[in-house]
Amino acid sequence: MNAVDVVRSHPDDFKIVALAVRSSRERCEALAREFGAKAYCGENAALQAVEENDADICLVATVGMSGLRPTMAAIAKGMDIALATKEVMVMAGELVTAEARRRGVRFLPVDSEHSAIFQCIAGSAADEVSGLVLTASGGPFLDEPEDLSSVTVAQALNHPRWKMGPKVTIDSSTMMNKGFEVLEARWLFDVPVERIDVVVHPESIVHSLVTFVDGATLAQLSPPDMRVAIQYALTWPRRLRSERAALDLAGLSRLTFRRPDPVRFPCLRLVREAMKRGGCAAAVLAAADEWAVQAFLDGRIPYTGIASAVERCLDAAPEMPCASVEAVLEADRWARATLNQGS
Ligand code: MG
Repeated sequence: MNAVDVVRSHPDDFKIVALAVRSSRERCEALAREFGAKAYCGENAALQAVEENDADICLVATVGMSGLRPTMAAIAKGMDIALATKEVMVMAGELVTAEARRRGVRFLPVDSEHSAIFQCIAGSAADEVSGLVLTASGGPFLDEPEDLSSVTVAQALNHPRWKMGPKVTIDSSTMMNKGFEVLEARWLFDVPVERIDVVVHPESIVHSLVTFVDGATLAQLSPPDMRVAIQYALTWPRRLRSERAALDLAGLSRLTFRRPDPVRFPCLRLVREAMKRGGCAAAVLAAADEWAVQAFLDGRIPYTGIASAVERCLDAAPEMPCASVEAVLEADRWARATLNQGS
């Protein structure tokens, strides 16, 4: 809806040709009428919309894995990809970036952190960048409660900064979301994970930073509003006017930064482990997380069971090379089947 807002405020700059949703058919059809676009609803709506339409940019904002096939199809058609679904990069980063290079297709990051990095890197050569620093709000459980095992669904869904869907809100609270963003940054900017750092920054004003080999650090700052990043993805390399107010620096009392607590947030470690294992391990990680978050939302496992389910699954995973979309989907199926058996 944020993306629709951006388009609505720039009617002369953008045209929506097609909209696809899995559910919410009525809302989709109303928007399609408003923008004179085609509406696609149902299980394969996104893939069908990509196959039957042409556009400069395809905005992918699905939940989890379901964005992979439509993204690959859009790349094959030469559309630039404005990517909001980080699981696509997490699970199949190697595949989709290789395919994009082959087709001369660009990724335009929509996530606020990756947009920040994209804006800071702006044209620098790869050997000028020494590292990336992703900021994290820390979510609702940064310091309390001390015992996370009794956290309820309602508590976990109450994110202090961003209003998002349930999966990404839970992922933010466990910091798995930040881990996914590390992997996403690795593929988007071709920087090894060892050179990607995470710092907790509860004010969510600095959206991420890039450090350069000469000792300079650039940061991108703006009030926390997803529409800034979405608009930049759609207007890059230009900037268009928006109604959003610029930051009032003197009005901010302070900006704070600290290291994430590795004991409270084991998911950050699991992500780096998956990356070390290589192949489809990251796909197993993401699929296990999707399963575990749903199991938590359904009341089948406790909050702390999310990280332990992911770890169990990762430990049990055989080596799986990641050479095709099929291999990624197979790893996804394997992880879900393994967790279903164990529960
Ligand atoms: Mg983010």
